[in-house]
Amino acid sequence: MKITRDLPIPKAALAIGAHPDDIEFNCGSTVAKWSSKGCEFHFAILTDGSMGSWEPTDDSDNLIETRQAEARRAANLLGVESSNVHFLGFKDGSLEKSRESIARVCSLIRTVKPQTIFGHDPWKMYRLHPDHRAAGFITVDAIVAAREPLYSYLQTLEHHRCDNLLLYEAQIEDHVESSKDFEEQKVESLLAHASQLLTTMNIAGPNDLDGIERFRRWISDNLTEKGSLATLSGGEAFKLINQI
Ligand SMILES: [Zn+2]
Repeated sequence: MKITRDLPIPKAALAIGAHPDDIEFNCGSTVAKWSSKGCEFHFAILTDGSMGSWEPTDDSDNLIETRQAEARRAANLLGVESSNVHFLGFKDGSLEKSRESIARVCSLIRTVKPQTIFGHDPWKMYRLHPDHRAAGFITVDAIVAAREPLYSYLQTLEHHRCDNLLLYEAQIEDHVESSKDFEEQKVESLLAHASQLLTTMNIAGPNDLDGIERFRRWISDNLTEKGSLATLSGGEAFKLINQI
């Protein structure tokens, strides 16, 4: 299989994630690289992140607020402005592909007009998390809705056809973006999700220096492995769809 690498950097891009840290995990280095070269990046975070705790007594309203603040800071660390982080607020754990969710993402695409969109691969086999699956289908359906001028319930916004879709956590990876010089920014942006240190990063807390070091190595090993698909020293891998 032919593996392509390093798309031309677009004027605007949109990354769509189910939860507040999915974008950083899956394309953080690419966001940092493109932002540093002038691309206007937007994030769409579909759910409110209210299930992101292993503490049954945690207050979910507080958690939503905390996670929004963390997401803005993580985006800033990648060069993305706070005002470009869009929270769609669907309930964590029960995201569904629906008329409403497709229309909301479609109108964001028509407003931001990105040339490139990043999102979860809805066709990834054996994935358990229902939000990631739903987010993938919402993303591809919204891309199609956004390009159609007569899409029935959004005719007030001008239609927009994007050039490239990069699916992450992909079933078949055929495109790699080099992460060289932008690996540290990815790690820092993930660590900015401080409420998730234990649940997603296996770090006991901010003082668990061994845990942080282990996590840093894990990200670095992952980038090395994905980069090797395209004979790069490091990279993030995607399924590229460019006939949209
Ligand atoms: Zn997630």
